[in-house]
Amino acid sequence: EYILAIESSCDDTAAAVLSERRILSNVVASQKVHEEYGGVVPELASRAHQAHIVPVVNSALTEAGITAADLSAIAFTAGPGLLGSLLVGTSFAKSLSLALSIPLIDVHHMRAHVLAHLIEAEGVKNPEFPFLCLTVSGGHTQIVKVNSPSDFEVMGETLDDAAGEAFDKTAKLLGLSYPGGPEIDRRAALGNPNAFAFSRPSLEGYNFSFSGLKTSVLYTLQKAVAKEPDFIQKNIDDICASVQHTIIEILMKKLVAASKDTGIHRIAIAGGVSANKGLRNRLSELAEKRKWELFLPPFEFTTDNAAMIAIAGYYKWKEGHVADLSISASARINL
Ligand code: ATP
Ligand code: FE
Repeated sequence: EYILAIESSCDDTAAAVLSERRILSNVVASQKVHEEYGGVVPELASRAHQAHIVPVVNSALTEAGITAADLSAIAFTAGPGLLGSLLVGTSFAKSLSLALSIPLIDVHHMRAHVLAHLIEAEGVKNPEFPFLCLTVSGGHTQIVKVNSPSDFEVMGETLDDAAGEAFDKTAKLLGLSYPGGPEIDRRAALGNPNAFAFSRPSLEGYNFSFSGLKTSVLYTLQKAVAKEPDFIQKNIDDICASVQHTIIEILMKKLVAASKDTGIHRIAIAGGVSANKGLRNRLSELAEKRKWELFLPPFEFTTDNAAMIAIAGYYKWKEGHVADLSISASARINL
């Protein structure tokens, strides 16, 4: 049994083939067109998906050593994401399901980020249930209690910007290129995390807020640059380290509270920001201190990929939750 999965929710066109819980291929075509705009341009994204989808699916099949005729089911990202981008993957998946007479499985992108932890692959440690997952990506920041592959409870989430946006927006203020997360990560390793103090929100419960941090960074920089025009260039590594440190501490405060209150010590992270080295180091420290069992995804399963869509589709399919051709994508869907 082979499942083909397609992911096209944002600016990566991805396809993967899965057999049982094993990934046979995982292909991603990233779009470079957005770099010069400093963010994803939706119109350009859907056009690029249209250009990439057939070659990406073909390479996924070839790498897996199968042909389309061997497929048992097709999974695709139905949302959340950019509507125009989602529709490219959705129409492709529907057409293939119709042409091959195989089941169609609609997948929730944020559930898939979490379920990547259930893939059977080198370097993936599968958590037992229940576990807590801190999902930190370009559009979302959530603490989710995962009771089973189909039972998710959102304990807390961001009230404004996502953690990835906090990285990307401060990177933009510093004149770094898009997406800024990886560049801040790299520079933070060279700087002093306590060089600058930025404001942290005080929120009840497990929710997050990152818009205040962006403003706090902006004001700090404006004041300093007024006195010293090349302040940013001179202090960029320290600024990056301090911004990253603040983001990590905001995240960890709520994660620690969620673990304490639920008594759950199995802790996973997911999404693009889970690639961050500072975050991984901090989590490892906390895991030692608090006796957590930590689940860190391999880098290929952190940012958008179709392997995670395949494993999420696999569990839905096993439970008999297939879609019909009337299904459509939506930009927003609740977890
Ligand atoms: P969503 O999943 O919420 O729809 P998305 O799919 O666009 O959003 P991902 O691809 O999961 O998001 O993650 C992209 C984000 O991850 C970007 O904001 C990027 O800056 C951030 N990111 C990637 N690598 C790192 C890193 N090493 N450190 C910090 N942030 C990172
Ligand atoms: Fe994503």
